[in-house]
Amino acid sequence: MKLSGDVVLEKEVSQRLKDARRVLVALDFDGTIAPLVARPEDARALPATAALLTQLDDLARDSAGTERPTFVALVSGRDIASLHRVAEPGENSFLVGSHGAELQVPAKVTTPDTAVLTEAQRELLSTVTAQLEAIHALHPGSHLEYKTLSTVLHTRGMEAAGAEAAATAAEEALSALDGVSVKHGKEIVEAAVAHSSKGEGLLWLREQTDADCVLFAGDDVTDEHGFAALETGRDVSVKVGSGETIAEFRISSPDSLPELLQLVLDVRS
Ligand SMILES: [Mg+2]
Repeated sequence: MKLSGDVVLEKEVSQRLKDARRVLVALDFDGTIAPLVARPEDARALPATAALLTQLDDLARDSAGTERPTFVALVSGRDIASLHRVAEPGENSFLVGSHGAELQVPAKVTTPDTAVLTEAQRELLSTVTAQLEAIHALHPGSHLEYKTLSTVLHTRGMEAAGAEAAATAAEEALSALDGVSVKHGKEIVEAAVAHSSKGEGLLWLREQTDADCVLFAGDDVTDEHGFAALETGRDVSVKVGSGETIAEFRISSPDSLPELLQLVLDVRS
């Protein structure tokens, strides 16, 4: 495994996972478990990763109630309904959707809890959506994604100048609206009517699991909030791919994730 291409770092990660009594493995989905694709609905876990996630979900089930439990969570900007469709999470995994605004404990029931919007949030979401639909109409090649708590303008696949013009138009339109939380990711502008972050999602997970070591891997700028919620030297923050980060460790792409998950299984099984 190449964690920054450094064997010492691999040893360091193993040691932390070994030393901890209660471990939580939390993973972003798009760009981490699944390679990025043009249409969000087409994203799927790499086969090797999917197989290891099943093993981790079994480990979560088998270690529950023991001295050294290992928990598994998916932490995504997707809403939970969408996460169920593309990620097919195991029934022993926690789910954090909509950047921390939706939370689901492991259950055999696969019907997701739907986040409840207030009347004001509902109205604001339709205003935001109308604005983004107008921008989408003016910028061919852009896509819209409708989520429970937000609407997203995607510019993946557009040529750079057009993508930038669409993103700028979206940011300008959204900045005029009060109460909208705007997130900028890789080729997306997302306008949410609930304020949350992956950091808050991870704090909730730590509270639920009482984990003394949290491993969190993610690829996007919104994952930096997650890394910021971790403790350097004790937890394990892993940036997937290139780009500036505050994470302690890095793997080059979703192709390297199976090796990281195998390491977790080797240490914790
Ligand atoms: Mg991602």
